[in-house]
Amino acid sequence: MVDRSISFIRSLCAGEIEQEVLFPFPKMDPGEKELLDPVLEAIDDFLAGREADFQAWDRQGFFPPELIEELRQFGLFGLIIPDSAGGMGFGNRAYSRTLQQVARHDASIAVTIGAHSSIGMRGLKLFGTDEQKARYYERLASGEMIAAFCLTEPTAGSDAASIRTTAIDKGDHFLLNGSKIWITNGGIADFFTVFAKTGEAEARSHLSAFIVTRDMPGVSVSEHEDKMGLRASSTTSVYFEDVKVPKENLLGPLDGGFKVAMNILNSGRSGLGGGCVGAMKNLIHKASTHATERQQFGQPIGSFGMIKGKIGQMVVDCYAAESAVMTVAALSDVPYDDYSVEAAITKVFASEALWRSADEALQVAGGMGYMRELPYEQILRDCRINRIFEGTNEILRLFIALTALNDVGQGLREMAKSLSGIFDHPIKGFGLLYDYAKKRANWAVGYKSAKRSLSKCHALLRVEAELFEDLTRDLAAMADRILRKHGKNIIGKQFATGRMANVMIDLFVLGCVLSRVTSALDEKGPDHAASEKDIATIFAGQVRTRVHQHLRMIDENDDELLKELAVQTYEKGYTWDLE
Ligand SMILES: Cc1cc2nc3c(=O)[nH]c(=O)nc-3n(C[C@H](O)[C@H](O)[C@H](O)COP(=O)(O)OP(=O)(O)OC[C@H]3O[C@@H](n4cnc5c(N)ncnc54)[C@H](O)[C@@H]3O)c2cc1C
Repeated sequence: MVDRSISFIRSLCAGEIEQEVLFPFPKMDPGEKELLDPVLEAIDDFLAGREADFQAWDRQGFFPPELIEELRQFGLFGLIIPDSAGGMGFGNRAYSRTLQQVARHDASIAVTIGAHSSIGMRGLKLFGTDEQKARYYERLASGEMIAAFCLTEPTAGSDAASIRTTAIDKGDHFLLNGSKIWITNGGIADFFTVFAKTGEAEARSHLSAFIVTRDMPGVSVSEHEDKMGLRASSTTSVYFEDVKVPKENLLGPLDGGFKVAMNILNSGRSGLGGGCVGAMKNLIHKASTHATERQQFGQPIGSFGMIKGKIGQMVVDCYAAESAVMTVAALSDVPYDDYSVEAAITKVFASEALWRSADEALQVAGGMGYMRELPYEQILRDCRINRIFEGTNEILRLFIALTALNDVGQGLREMAKSLSGIFDHPIKGFGLLYDYAKKRANWAVGYKSAKRSLSKCHALLRVEAELFEDLTRDLAAMADRILRKHGKNIIGKQFATGRMANVMIDLFVLGCVLSRVTSALDEKGPDHAASEKDIATIFAGQVRTRVHQHLRMIDENDDELLKELAVQTYEKGYTWDLE
């Protein structure tokens, strides 16, 4: 029986490998798969061969209404709504896989569907009452209502708790005033999940979520934004002027809006991750086709080592990202109580892997890649946003590391408390001290207990599994060392937290890869899974190099010099022009 309260990565930071969470690699429920396969095929039929349309919509900067109608007809707005309400009833795995398939063709379409299901109406699914669901599900499933998520404001981006939109309690309704910016689907949505202050304007915690519909007097939207990428997808400001929002449209608990927003974003991350994986598969196809067709120096450019290196790395990145995205989608389907750090990890890894792939695919295409005639430059523009929206990768790195460091700090605080209370409660105090000393000793000598080993890995992956075990000890020691070095000042030590997050990201993704390759070796046999085994070997080697570098840099770094240089530049600018 799985313990659903466990977070694999948070345990890992304490040196414990909860391998049951990752092994065996999650498989889709056969019933769901049976439903999914024809949908994937139909998506290809629907979108394949329409590159000229995608390009034209990118140039004009919006979708024609006929395309939105086609998406409705296809049922793409009902992916996560129960079939009893007219949806497809997909769990997060099937949902993520569907977005992957759409994103293989066009990112603007994927983001239109994703903003509706991943964030726009997900609050209704997670926190809505039966009455609220009955009121909106069917119209959302059919796409009669398209949904949008309204959190960001001109002065509140990453610092979401600082929003200024207010919802004042007027007895039978809330009076909503404020404005939101850069809202995906803003121009085509009728259903808005809106976050507003319900307490003191200055109080950061008193946020609530509301269902607001386009027909409420006082709701309006701006013109479509002129963006770098995802140009066809609708992005607008949304304004609320004395909007009377009925009491029954409160979504989730009063003043519990921050938690509602974070839960929506966590739960929806496998949509964005799936989109990144789909785009990477498209890039791999395009770049490898070009590499085999384009001749230079009398041979295909794909025969040169540097080009092979790029294509091979794209494959490793895509496999790794897909392994992590599908693992987290499965964790949220179980559901585990807390997979928020794992979900943040997949968003950071997949969005950065896609960015690297888009850059390298364009490089493989050479000058042609820079021409607007080919799709590489559009893909590069389209995918850049993934590192920014739904939580920037910087904020998510802080969240990933600080959550883990807080856990470790809790352990250290317990120990400190036991020390101060040692004379009052000698037995309890010594017990805690003993446990902690044992843990540290275990990290140091590489002692193997049940939770120190990745024994579920396939025998052919023994080297990689042992590396994982070693790096887990390094991670636990790193957390301990960083906390001892910076203490409660850790919040302001972003170089250190960034390194810790990077190690956690690499180890979680490696764990997912090892689980997936283990299943592949078991099911297909070593011959048929030989390339997947190679992917695991390559990725593990890259993780080892990166982790060792991060570890070294805890003490050997130029962090303070770099920060000083930035401060100087804020004051004086760049002052080293050569005459
Ligand atoms: C195309 C597009 C679609 C969007 N769709 C939606 C939507 O549907 N709904 C919605 O509500 N919002 C949406 N957004 C807004 C998006 O979520 C925000 O842009 C994002 O949260 C970042 O906020 P910001 O742009 O204000 O950046 P800022 O918060 O100003 O950050 C600027 C930079 O500073 C960094 N930074 C900020 N704080 C810290 C810190 N403490 N430590 C280190 N670095 C920090 C950030 O990582 C970033 O690199 C969309 C944005 C775009 C561009």
